[in-house]
Amino acid sequence: MTLSHKCLEFEEPIYRYKTRMVDCPMVTANERRQVPTTTPDNMFTLDFSCMVNDQVLCDKVRNVFITAGKFITATLNLKSAVSVKAQFLDFCVNFNDCDTNEVILGAAGPARMIPNQDTDGKIRLYPQALYKQLNLPEHPQFGPNEIQATFNANMTYWFDGDPLPMQFRQADLLYVVLHELIHGLGFINSWNDYMGLQALTPFIAGIMQSNSPIPTPGGPGAPGGAPGGTPGGGIPPTAKGQFVELVFDKNLVFLQNGQSLTSLTDQLNNFQINLNLPDNEVVASFAKSPQFQIAKNVYDNAVVHGTIGFLLTPGDPPNTPLTADQIKNNVFLLETSLNPFVPSSSIGHVDFETYANSSDFLMLFTYPHGLTLNEMMTRSGTTNTYGPIGPNLRTLLGIMGYEVKTDYTPPVTLNGSSDTTNASTTVTFNTTNTTTNNDNHSNSSIVNYNIVLTLFCILLANYFVH
Ligand SMILES: [Zn+2]
Repeated sequence: MTLSHKCLEFEEPIYRYKTRMVDCPMVTANERRQVPTTTPDNMFTLDFSCMVNDQVLCDKVRNVFITAGKFITATLNLKSAVSVKAQFLDFCVNFNDCDTNEVILGAAGPARMIPNQDTDGKIRLYPQALYKQLNLPEHPQFGPNEIQATFNANMTYWFDGDPLPMQFRQADLLYVVLHELIHGLGFINSWNDYMGLQALTPFIAGIMQSNSPIPTPGGPGAPGGAPGGTPGGGIPPTAKGQFVELVFDKNLVFLQNGQSLTSLTDQLNNFQINLNLPDNEVVASFAKSPQFQIAKNVYDNAVVHGTIGFLLTPGDPPNTPLTADQIKNNVFLLETSLNPFVPSSSIGHVDFETYANSSDFLMLFTYPHGLTLNEMMTRSGTTNTYGPIGPNLRTLLGIMGYEVKTDYTPPVTLNGSSDTTNASTTVTFNTTNTTTNNDNHSNSSIVNYNIVLTLFCILLANYFVH
């Protein structure tokens, strides 16, 4: 299998990731690109494009990235620099996304995913930021950046140090940036309705069984384009697809019976994906296959609150029922309240109801209204203990492969408060009122599979409910 020499890249982190498979031949450690300059208190480097005509604002945004980098560096023992390519621009002007009730604040993800054989023998896609921490003597060629992120300037952000308290319709950009960087480090899941069948599967990767050029699904002019392909190359006769997980997916479990989702991936892979067939034929054949019910069952669970979690004790025997105590203490409950399933929000975030008012408030699918990051930390009593990265999130990052620091010292002192709420107010969100625009944000069309992967995160600010 040549998968290990092909990496997955994302082009623009807007709405949908346009992905492409790129060659990433094995190189030895001394061929690495030049290590960018970092400082012990900030292992993140920034390649920042500020696309608004306001230097003061641009400087404030740049400072937020530095602060966010310091908070993560204070939490994780990063052995390798993490390069962030970020842009700040007006989504209304640039993408005609001018909705004022549901504002997309930011979007981000890893810039390159690298296949890696996991401890259970399966190949999963690792974000480059994580892969680099492994410090292997030989590794697939790295791309120039670890994380790509885009932030919407069509929003009045609040910054620590601003003279006025934060207003209700503002958001603390530091929360948004930290949230997105954590996605970029690997807090991303691949289960999605790629075929538009209300059935969830992991990402569908094309695997070449020959040394021919990488297949270009549909060839030139195919929907979504396929920039990694060879013009006119077509699909070699051996092209075959496979469901491939991301590293995050390894520890997902159904709370009801303790079944691991990765065991379902194995079952799904009994279905043969023939990339020579037109997309609609692949979909039709999958819908008739015995594996379809498995994918359907995952979807049905993913739209019911409290059904899927990230197991924080990975040493437990797989597929054994969880006790109530384990569910309470050893599972990081994921967001499965949204119905229908919302790509980029469902599963890839933590349960709003459980964590909005806890110390693990960072990875909610929507901004917790009315609170600054400082207030969230103050309210949960974590300013000097965990900071913005709560205990469950730390454990999760450790399980994925990051080294979590044992001591935490706040790298920065924040002072900000909001105007509209005091720090003891409970954050609520009525998920039944979510009307996320699926037309724009979903990726349910099979024509896009393999070349477009849904955006891993769209962090929203919803103003429907107060
Ligand atoms: Zn997110």
